[in-house]
Amino acid sequence: MEIEGATFNISSSLVMKICFGDDYCVPTITLCGPERLILSLQKWKKLTEESKSILLAIEGKSEESEWCLGGYFYVTILNNIVDIRKRNKVGEDFIETSNQGLLLTYSDFRQLMKLTNIVEQLVPELVNLKPCWEGDDHYNQIGALMCPECNPDEYLDWLE
Ligand SMILES: [Zn+2]
Repeated sequence: MEIEGATFNISSSLVMKICFGDDYCVPTITLCGPERLILSLQKWKKLTEESKSILLAIEGKSEESEWCLGGYFYVTILNNIVDIRKRNKVGEDFIETSNQGLLLTYSDFRQLMKLTNIVEQLVPELVNLKPCWEGDDHYNQIGALMCPECNPDEYLDWLE
């Protein structure tokens, strides 16, 4: 029988679920805390790539406090909390925070990032995954506008 998913208890308040996907859906990584947040593989990979820099900020060794995961998703650090959250595009460029997000304690975040290698073993396509914005189709503006990852709120408008 095929395994369909894997669950990791990170702390009493945080669970990570990997859905491996099938012919109809791609794998996703869901973080379940007080809220639920589904991350695409690309966003998870970006998060793990930025984790070194985020951990430096957590340790007070860096002034950086904001990282973009693509598709309006941002990681921000404020008051001992790591906030992973999608923002809303309002009008042309004003972006406000949405309720699609999750607040993690520093300890939860550290534990979560310790699973990076295990997740890559379970989802091997992560290893060579390139962000969509490095693809040829994103060289022109239209390609990025039609991309659900880069333009999640409006990409359907461009797919005519
Ligand atoms: Zn894209």
